[in-house]
Amino acid sequence: MKHRQNHGRILLPKEAFKALQANTTETINLEIDKELVNEIRTLSAADKEIQDIRRKKASGTTYDRKIALGLCEENSGLLMYDGLIWVPDNDTLRLRILRDHHDAQAAGHPGRARTLELVSRNFYWSGQRKYIHRYVDHCDTCHHRKPIRHVPFGLLKPLELPHRPWGTISMHFITALPTSNGKDALWVIIDRLTKMGHFVACQGTMDPEDLADHFLRQVIRPHGLPSSIVSDRGSLFTSDFWK
Ligand SMILES: [Zn+2]
Repeated sequence: MKHRQNHGRILLPKEAFKALQANTTETINLEIDKELVNEIRTLSAADKEIQDIRRKKASGTTYDRKIALGLCEENSGLLMYDGLIWVPDNDTLRLRILRDHHDAQAAGHPGRARTLELVSRNFYWSGQRKYIHRYVDHCDTCHHRKPIRHVPFGLLKPLELPHRPWGTISMHFITALPTSNGKDALWVIIDRLTKMGHFVACQGTMDPEDLADHFLRQVIRPHGLPSSIVSDRGSLFTSDFWK
């Protein structure tokens, strides 16, 4: 497909498919090594807050103003909080966990939210969010390389009124649905003028070629090439898919 004009157009996205895949199939292997767990276990035994929780649990206390005691349980010498390992108040330990989940090659210096998400797959401590935000905000590498992780955003401007059916469409994906006939995502394509829509059941793992094919059959063939596409996925819809 060829560009007709290259301004004012929001384009179909390779990134969208990656994001789609990310929602369903992503696994990042950040193994918790034994040595780290041992250290957490040792330091837990001397940690004030953890000791306090253990005492309360042992005495049958069920309510605490700050901590959901019901979510705390023991697991082989570790205090678990809602299934996560409670990390003692020790900077060496916490910084090491952050290095593993932010600085490590597999992590690649993600932003605040992503770093928090990665850490909180396995670990918890009180004040964790703040701690992680501060760490990411002060990461030297992040400051110096300021990588551009997205294609340039289009200019924000008011939407023009659509002047022909299927001239302006909006679309978005609904993902992580219960699987039905092998499909677990819905691609919603709406004409902004008539509000008619196409709802394409698809797989979260569908590759770009499949999506392009769907787009061609569902939209371009019956309605012609839209002059603009609006999407709530922002920059996801601005790559050079049309080339
Ligand atoms: Zn960083």
